[in-house]
Amino acid sequence: MPLVDPKGMIEAARAGGFCVGAFNIVDFLSMEVVVAAAEEKRAPAILQASSGTIKRFGVRKLVALARIAAAESPTPIALHLDHGKDPKVINEAIKAGFNSVMIDASERPFEENAAITRRVVEEAHAAGVAVEGEIGRVVGVEDDIVVRQDQAIYTTPKEALEFQRRTGVDFLAAAIGTAHGFYKVTPKLDIDTLRQIRREASFPLVVHGATGLSFEVIRELVGAGAAKMNLSTQIKKTYIDALYDYISARRTEYDILKVLANAKNELVKMVGQYIDVLGSTGKA
Ligand SMILES: [Zn+2]
Repeated sequence: MPLVDPKGMIEAARAGGFCVGAFNIVDFLSMEVVVAAAEEKRAPAILQASSGTIKRFGVRKLVALARIAAAESPTPIALHLDHGKDPKVINEAIKAGFNSVMIDASERPFEENAAITRRVVEEAHAAGVAVEGEIGRVVGVEDDIVVRQDQAIYTTPKEALEFQRRTGVDFLAAAIGTAHGFYKVTPKLDIDTLRQIRREASFPLVVHGATGLSFEVIRELVGAGAAKMNLSTQIKKTYIDALYDYISARRTEYDILKVLANAKNELVKMVGQYIDVLGSTGKA
């Protein structure tokens, strides 16, 4: 089917106590993988592009590829811009046909973050595009954005509610101690705060940095109110490991289609596993 607005799927997840997986794609194969896993699990899913992927392809080509990847899928698939920093790129993504965008001005003080986010919401909503905002700071590396552990700022329920009221964001990424990339130390998660925001808020919450969390912890986060969860680093790891393992074992075989087919199989299995853990299996 055509790409859809992710707002409906994320709100259904919030109401139904499950979570929609938002998977960072890097090329057409990874898009096909997410669509195939979602189809197999009869789950809604979000393809999301970070600034690195946007630099690689440009927004128009990404939208065209995502539309092709989703076209024959019976399950709803959305295309989302992850960690939009540059208002120009966000504007281009909205015009090109992204279904939702994230404006991440979380490194700014509250007032500035709210003002920047508000402007993006006005522009996006005028085009029928949903917006994710972020307050607090998620640590780790996301493309060229680096946030150190000692720069982590946990979101408070009061701030989360105030920020959404002031900006009108459709969903909000709350920093509760998860991180981008691989965990170097065991993260200190504030799941109670997530639960508290979930109780008081009328909008869905997003958790970034699922890679490296145990499935048990992910289930706990979903139970506490995460309605959209981002998975990026694990996709890159599974992809690269699958290529490396296959090529290493068959060093003189030059069948690129087999190399890619193996990577696709491994990735579909992995993404499907996350869809199960997030509870979105059968929710399309
Ligand atoms: Zn993130």
